[in-house]
Amino acid sequence: MSSSILIKNATVITVDDSIGIKTNYDILILDGVIKEMGTNLSPKDVVGEVIDAQNCLVSPGFVDTHHHLWQQLIRGVTTDWSLGNYVENIRNIYGSLFTPEDVYTANYFAGLDLINNGITTVIDHCHILNSSEHTDASIKGLKDAGVRGTWCYGFYENPERSDIPGSNHNVSTPAGFDHKARMEDAKRAREQHFPDNDPETQLLTFGAAPTEAERMTEGSLKEEIDFFRSIGARVITMHVAMGCYDLNHQVVQHLGDNKYLGKDLLFSHGASFTDSELKLIQKAGSGISVTPETELQMGMGHPIAFKAASVGCHVGLGIDITNNQNNDMLASMRLLMQAERGKRNLEVQGKSVPYNILPKSEEALYMATMGGAKSIGLDNLVGSITPGKRADLIITRCDGMNTVPIIKPIGTLMYNAHIGNIDTVIINGNIMKRDGKVLNVDWPKLRQDVRERSARMVEIATKASPLSQTFKL
Ligand SMILES: [Zn+2]
Repeated sequence: MSSSILIKNATVITVDDSIGIKTNYDILILDGVIKEMGTNLSPKDVVGEVIDAQNCLVSPGFVDTHHHLWQQLIRGVTTDWSLGNYVENIRNIYGSLFTPEDVYTANYFAGLDLINNGITTVIDHCHILNSSEHTDASIKGLKDAGVRGTWCYGFYENPERSDIPGSNHNVSTPAGFDHKARMEDAKRAREQHFPDNDPETQLLTFGAAPTEAERMTEGSLKEEIDFFRSIGARVITMHVAMGCYDLNHQVVQHLGDNKYLGKDLLFSHGASFTDSELKLIQKAGSGISVTPETELQMGMGHPIAFKAASVGCHVGLGIDITNNQNNDMLASMRLLMQAERGKRNLEVQGKSVPYNILPKSEEALYMATMGGAKSIGLDNLVGSITPGKRADLIITRCDGMNTVPIIKPIGTLMYNAHIGNIDTVIINGNIMKRDGKVLNVDWPKLRQDVRERSARMVEIATKASPLSQTFKL
């Protein structure tokens, strides 16, 4: 039986250049697809739901192109840390303490929290795979949450930390779960959990993430990419060119020189990309994921987003880690905008005064939606409100003191609204958040579970001493 949702009388920010922003507009969703848009639409002969969206903004669901969802359990611990502190503590301590059940809870909770924040598509760069059980738990958590995206099998090996008092020796990287075991497990995960790895029919698809691109030899990176392509990874994502932490390996240049670049590659961060690398990425149609909050804080350089977009690269935004800040794309867009404007204003200080402030807000909104979708090869399905695309959209209610009146809809969304104003979130035509509340979750039960797991983790982690070696990304 057909299901329909008719959204009435909305101000629609389509992020589709051919349609633009519309007021008093209706959207008809049929069987998960945006069927029709216009004024005075009626549900016709289809029985369904009607949402009165007067005084609401309707915009595409946000696309989060870089995220380590497992870290949702340790919210807030990195807020004053550099990337070095992060690696010492998160990658070399916490990453060795998570049980499969912790990973399930983290990914499930993170997926729901993304929905709460209007993020409807995510790339999970999942590098907490300390056993096959961790793999299964991680995928199940994300599938149960119901968010769209690509789960990327991370090859990074968290260190064995049975030296930490209170750690469960069975859960840190067990002997035997080495590179070879991961290859077999990745293949198994692809076949078992993603037999039909087609985003047209599956909400969650399979991708992969190399061990750590800048810490590998060129040969081993190419081998991993070959392997991931051989098992049908839809997206292959890796950290590169991280400002102060850039080892000047120019991974992208080498991949480009060896004809390894392609639309399936997604590079996160990239503040220190050379002009030549940006050109290679643009030519190959690879994606770039910029994560403003962590890059600005942790010494990863000034976000490359606008420079990369200006030369035609597909640029998306990413949240990166919830142990630093929330899954808040509104805040990320705003931070990106003002960091870029501040930089440009400083460049002319003493020489002239800024008259035309650039970039414009719509450019950041594009990155958080359509640009992100392009960077991960899903722009035919999501990223804009366009007839024929899947219905992933958010309804932001603008009745509160912080959102009245709406004069510039994009401005209201990006500079005035907060996630508490996001009233409804729809993914694939299904209502996932309504009246400001995420549906289909026993939140008091999940909340208690999160609190207990997090407290245990923090207690054990604080007893751990750093690894003797200098930090390893
Ligand atoms: Zn990352």
